[in-house]
Amino acid sequence: MESADVAVVGGGILGTSVAYWLAARYSGRFVVLEKERQVAEHTSRRNTGVVHRPFYLHPKKRRVFARAAQVSYGLWKRYAVEKGLPWAEVGTYEVALDDSHFEILDTYSAWALENGMAPGEVEVLDGREVRRREPNVRCAGAILSKTDTCVDYRAFTQALKADAEALGVQFLFGKNVQEVNAYTGDVEVLFTGGGEPLRARLLVNCAGGDAVDVAHASGVGLEYTDIHFRGEYWVVDPRVKDLASRNLYSVPRHKDMPFLDPHWIVRVNGGREIGPNAVPVPRSYQYEGLRVLDWFGKLLEPPVENKVRLLTNPEFVNLSLAELLSSISKGEMLGRVQRFLPALKEEHLVSRGIAGVRSQVIERNGALAREAIEVPGPYSYHVLNYNSPGATGAPAYAAYLVDRLASRGDLDCVRKNPKPQKVWDWEPVSKAMGLAA
Ligand SMILES: Cc1cc2nc3c(=O)[nH]c(=O)nc-3n(C[C@H](O)[C@H](O)[C@H](O)COP(=O)(O)OP(=O)(O)OC[C@H]3O[C@@H](n4cnc5c(N)ncnc54)[C@H](O)[C@@H]3O)c2cc1C
Repeated sequence: MESADVAVVGGGILGTSVAYWLAARYSGRFVVLEKERQVAEHTSRRNTGVVHRPFYLHPKKRRVFARAAQVSYGLWKRYAVEKGLPWAEVGTYEVALDDSHFEILDTYSAWALENGMAPGEVEVLDGREVRRREPNVRCAGAILSKTDTCVDYRAFTQALKADAEALGVQFLFGKNVQEVNAYTGDVEVLFTGGGEPLRARLLVNCAGGDAVDVAHASGVGLEYTDIHFRGEYWVVDPRVKDLASRNLYSVPRHKDMPFLDPHWIVRVNGGREIGPNAVPVPRSYQYEGLRVLDWFGKLLEPPVENKVRLLTNPEFVNLSLAELLSSISKGEMLGRVQRFLPALKEEHLVSRGIAGVRSQVIERNGALAREAIEVPGPYSYHVLNYNSPGATGAPAYAAYLVDRLASRGDLDCVRKNPKPQKVWDWEPVSKAMGLAA
């Protein structure tokens, strides 16, 4: 039977970052189990591609993500230079659609500094000044985050995979983890379609959209369930790309569901798109169609009560119906962007972009979880609800996880052996994340 000291499930940006840091800090047999044929096949390439600066993240309620985003910004910037990967610091306007949103802009301005951004990185502007700089944008005002950056997260993940391999990590593709059985001292991992099982002394679940399923297959996190939202994009005709030169986000209409408001996005290749919306879908990586019948299976999947509580929330149901409409109707999606970019017309949206799926944990009380959730199991550790700005924060969050595992004694099965790193220094990252063992 194959064996490993640590098996990371999921070759997305998080699992790849975790494997990289593990091998950079320890000696042992590290493997990444990925069901696809390459890394970053799912959310880690199907996203908006923005390195988010943390001005919009509550410094206390979203402390870990805010810190991970702040620390990772410097890491990614350096990595892009070192590896010759694209890095387009285009900036983002987060626009206030009416005067009542001004207070939020001031709050964001304070959070930016509290989260470690430099004073010159953000600027609060009134509507007239925004219009002077971006003549097609209509709003009451905006906060400009000048260092928000467009990147290609798939290229980052692929480069990181190569670095992890150079440190000895093995990526095993076509390995769809189906069942995890704990024994005394290790776990046995079984795969869909049979094949040789694998024994690992520690399993780290970074399975993204399927992380809840992998946790359940390990017998842990049984109090959680999830719901999936497909974020769809429309590609803008390149001839009207100059309608706006920077990303345009709007102050969220629903502060608990900030992912509901589509943006005007500058892609790293210079193209423009609008999106994403958030269409409820029954499966994790379902990029097309509505598959209405699959909902029955999804709704009956235990635990049922979390979903029942969410689905009896009339606000959630109404919002979900509006999102469904925005999937079917281009005009509906467009209308949301026209609120701040009225010059954008339906004929400017020329084709659908690459959709991605966000998997959101539903807590027992029916609320959608906001932060990532870490669930320890016997010889396993599970990261659930690792959502936006998860790609931004991946390298720092992964370092934090490695520290976390070390402080729990989960890494006692491998030998500490820090290797000098060319691009990233471990110590400052670990220190900044504040959990050094
Ligand atoms: C529409 C959208 C836009 C976003 N935009 C941004 C953005 O602009 N900036 C930002 O910072 N974040 C953004 N995010 C969030 C970010 O993309 C995610 O937080 C991040 O990519 C998650 O990475 P991951 O490695 O956890 O998940 P994934 O990339 O989904 O990786 C998980 C991997 O696990 C594998 N896997 C799953 N189940 C199994 C199994 N049973 N066995 C083996 N392998 C398995 C999958 O194949 C996959 O490769 C966005 C997300 C969405 C949905």
